[in-house]
Amino acid sequence: MTGPRLTLDAVTKTFPGAAHRAVDDASLIAPAGRILALLGPSGAGKTTLLRLVAGFEKPDAGVIRVGDRVVSGPGVHVRPEARGVGFVFQHGALFPHLTARQNIAFGLKQLGAGDRTERIGAVSELCAIQRLLDRYPHELSGGEQQRVALARALARRVGIVLLDEPMSSVDVRLRAEIGADMRRILGASGTTAVFVTHDHADAFALADLVAVMLHGAIHQVGTPEEVYRSPATLDVARFIGVPNLMPARRRGEVVETEIGIFTANGARGPEDVPLVALVQAEDLLLEPDNAGAGEVESSVFQGRSRSYRVRLPSGLMVRCSAPLGTSPLEPGSRVRVIPTCATVSCFPVEAAPGKGGQPARDSLLQPPEAG
Ligand code: ADP
Ligand code: MG
Repeated sequence: MTGPRLTLDAVTKTFPGAAHRAVDDASLIAPAGRILALLGPSGAGKTTLLRLVAGFEKPDAGVIRVGDRVVSGPGVHVRPEARGVGFVFQHGALFPHLTARQNIAFGLKQLGAGDRTERIGAVSELCAIQRLLDRYPHELSGGEQQRVALARALARRVGIVLLDEPMSSVDVRLRAEIGADMRRILGASGTTAVFVTHDHADAFALADLVAVMLHGAIHQVGTPEEVYRSPATLDVARFIGVPNLMPARRRGEVVETEIGIFTANGARGPEDVPLVALVQAEDLLLEPDNAGAGEVESSVFQGRSRSYRVRLPSGLMVRCSAPLGTSPLEPGSRVRVIPTCATVSCFPVEAAPGKGGQPARDSLLQPPEAG
C-alpha cells in the first residue's frame, strides 16, 4: 500500500482574538508514501497545521486535499474520522489504563474480532512490539511507548499519519535509534507521514522532505540537502543554524566578503545593499601560515572531521570543518582561510532600525555552541 499525497493550498488560520495568523497562507505537498518533516521553532504554527489537516480545526481560507479529495475548503469540512488520517499526539499518546494491545484495539472497534486480531498481529510485527502487547504504558520505555502509539495509528490503515513532536519525550541517547525505527516502520508501511519537530537534526535524519515553518508561513520545502545547502531565506539559514553567515557586498557580477570573492545565488539589486553570504564550513580550507589573517580560536573533534572556529581580522568568527588525517591546529595558531567553493548563496539583510542598514555583525554569526 502507498498512502495518498497530502496537499495544502494557501491555508490560513487565525485564532479568535489573536494578533497574528497561526497558519499564514501555507502551501505544501507531502508526496505519496514519503516522510515529510514540518520543522520550525515553538509557536511557528506546526501543531495548528497538523490539527487543520486532521480536521480538528477549520481553516479560515485555503484548501486541504487527501489525494484528490478535498477534505477542507470553502463549504467543505470532512469529519476527522472520515479523512483517512491518523494522529500521534505529542503528549499522553496512550491511554494509561489500557494495555498496549487494548490501546491499539481502541481505534478498531468497528472491525470484527477476527479482523481486529489480524490487524494487531500485523502492526505489532511491523513495529516490533509483540512481546509488549500485554503491558501498560507505565511498564514501557519512552521509545516503546512511541512504537505502540505509532502502531495504534497504523493499525487503522489510514493513508496518512501525522506525528506531533514524536521524539520530544524520548531520551536524547535513544533518539537516533528510535528515529531509525520510526523511519523503517513508516517506510515499510507505505504511509504518507508528516512529523513535526523543532530540531533540525531530527528533521534531516528522518525525513525525505523538510518543510521549514516560521511565524505561520512555509518558507521552504526541500530535501534535507537542499534546505541545508541552500536555505531559501536568511531566517531559514539562521533557524537551522548554518555555520557561516558573512557580511557581503555586491561588486558587479560578484560578491565580496572578508574571505574572498564569489559568484552569488540570489544577489540582486543595487550594489550598496548589504548582503549576507552563506559559506559552508565544509567549503573552507585552513592552511597553517604565520602570516595568515585568521587565528584558530578553538576546535572540536567530531569523529570524521574536526570543526574549527577561526577569528578573522574584523573579529568575525568563521567555522571550518577539516577532515581528519592532518595533525590538529592548536588554538592561537595563524591560518589562511581558503574557500574551495566558487558560488555562495546570498540574502539581502533586512534593514535594522537605527543601524543605518548595516548588517549587525553579532547577529549575523550565531554559531551553534556545541560542535
Ligand atoms: P507550534 O506547534 O509550532 O509550537 P502552535 O500551532 O501550537 O505552534 O501555535 C501557533 C500559534 O497559535 C501560537 O501563537 C499559539 O499561541 C497559537 N494557538 C495555538 N492553539 C491555539 C488555540 N487553540 N487558541 C488560540 N491560540 C492558539
Ligand atoms: Mg506544537
